[in-house]
Amino acid sequence: MEPGNRARVEAWLRYGDDLDLGPYYRDRVALARAVDANADAGSEASEPVHHAMAAAAGQGEAVPSARVLPLSATSLAAGVPARSSPAISPASEPSLFETSDRIEGDTLGLIRETIGDCTRCKLHKGRTNIVFGVGSVKAQLVFVGEGPGRDEDIKGEPFVGRAGKLLTQMIEAMGLRREDVYICNVVKCRPPENRLPEKDEITTCSPFLFRQIDVIRPKVICCLGSCASQTLLQTTQGISRFRGEWFDFRGSKLIATYHPAYLLRNPNAKGEVWKDLQKVMAVLGLQPKRK
Ligand code: SF4
Repeated sequence: MEPGNRARVEAWLRYGDDLDLGPYYRDRVALARAVDANADAGSEASEPVHHAMAAAAGQGEAVPSARVLPLSATSLAAGVPARSSPAISPASEPSLFETSDRIEGDTLGLIRETIGDCTRCKLHKGRTNIVFGVGSVKAQLVFVGEGPGRDEDIKGEPFVGRAGKLLTQMIEAMGLRREDVYICNVVKCRPPENRLPEKDEITTCSPFLFRQIDVIRPKVICCLGSCASQTLLQTTQGISRFRGEWFDFRGSKLIATYHPAYLLRNPNAKGEVWKDLQKVMAVLGLQPKRK
């Protein structure tokens, strides 16, 4: 399509969204990707956040440009924003469908044992350590990232680099300690050059993540970045389409926010993330840490 025509079509689609007329055009993935091209992963820097984040929120920093429509996981899976709104249905017993693949008597230890010295996907070739997950099995809050980076690969623990330090600060800002929550990734081995995990790698490794979540049964899952949220919600839409909205995931409430590594590159987004974390705190009955 001619660039000029494409721009006009995209403008009409956004206009339709603004009027809540959609969905009349199903394949918006490319458009969403264009909006979100910059909104995820990468590497790191440690910068104190809590008050910076809170301050940013107070100053009303820029919201990502794409309009966030109320979505359901079902509509996301179909790649189409839903018109109806309920942000999240109160959380609920899992449906029969959701419980059907739960493993009776499963434990984190059993899952780790099953993974073993895994060679199920090509990521095993470059790893130093399998990065399984860390935290409390009784956690009410689980953070899910995309995959280990260099520091995590060396240490065998998720989120220990500069982005990890930022995540720890975010957790503490919520009035929690790192050991109160559970932290894990979609893939357990480091993708080379810190690239995003590929589809076959996600497909192979993510069942272990689902089992971890099933064992912990947290009240809230917070997806960090596009990869984690797209994997759990089974969508290809960019994160800025649904960031900060609530979804149901196998009996837990799920919210997606930006990856800490993204915040290191885009500190202006800290305010948005702090707002998302405040929603999580409200659900968990948490008070922000005092100075
Ligand atoms: Fe196995 Fe997952 Fe590592 Fe792939 S990423 S080798 S599936 S543990």
